[in-house]
Amino acid sequence: MHSLDGPVLTPLRVRILRSGSSGNAIFLDAGDVRLIVDAGLPVEMIVRELASLSIRPPDLTAVLLTHEHDDHAKGAAALSRMARCPVLANEGTLAASAAALAETPVERFATGRPFAVGSLTIDAFPLPHDAAEPVGFTISRNGSSVVIATDLGSTGDEIVARARGADLLILEANYDLRLLSVSPYPWFLKNRILSTTGHLSNDAAASAVVGAAEGRLRTAVLVHLSEINNLTPLARDTVQWALDREGITHVAVDAVRPNGTSRTYELQ
Ligand SMILES: [Zn+2]
Ligand SMILES: [Zn+2]
Repeated sequence: MHSLDGPVLTPLRVRILRSGSSGNAIFLDAGDVRLIVDAGLPVEMIVRELASLSIRPPDLTAVLLTHEHDDHAKGAAALSRMARCPVLANEGTLAASAAALAETPVERFATGRPFAVGSLTIDAFPLPHDAAEPVGFTISRNGSSVVIATDLGSTGDEIVARARGADLLILEANYDLRLLSVSPYPWFLKNRILSTTGHLSNDAAASAVVGAAEGRLRTAVLVHLSEINNLTPLARDTVQWALDREGITHVAVDAVRPNGTSRTYELQ
């Protein structure tokens, strides 16, 4: 007799290996495929973090890039060579990283056109950020999904609507406005961060999480925190207070300290 239950899938595991202005990498393990989203660290550091999870580079299926900035892409070519797996990115990102990826196997995806990698469906969506063709990702399997949105100057309705459909939201909370205004950063840099194609403030992240909480969202993880212009408890509390003010109790909030690692999140 055939079982009606279908194959039993291992949980989809998600772990932020590193997050912050000096380097970002997220690891996803679906059992049949293993992805790195962004590889903005020295490759040795990624390998060390993977080893702590008993994963070796050849276990990786692909390296996905959100955009070409160094803190997301500088280790991609070396990791791809070591793992013998391709770098997946859209046309704009590949063109902007052409020199760095010259010796690297690459595969192109189109922003807005979902594609499959093993059991995972990946949908790249545009983000407002000062890069060639920056994107976030919705990565889903069996009705569960994670939305990754880092490096964005603002969250429009579309991004919030997308986050509403996710179980897990990995969202940038780069700076606290008061800390940024008194920080030693030069004004041109402050203006870049503040612009609508720069980075996301704690307050903007908080209103996005409140908006997303109307949906199926259960966990929001704040990432890409500035070491200079933010404080980990402040980022977390800003979002938590916003949820508390609205009486929302079903969304857990974590913040990953600058250059820190998260715990492992599991989606069924
Ligand atoms: Zn960037
Ligand atoms: Zn970045």
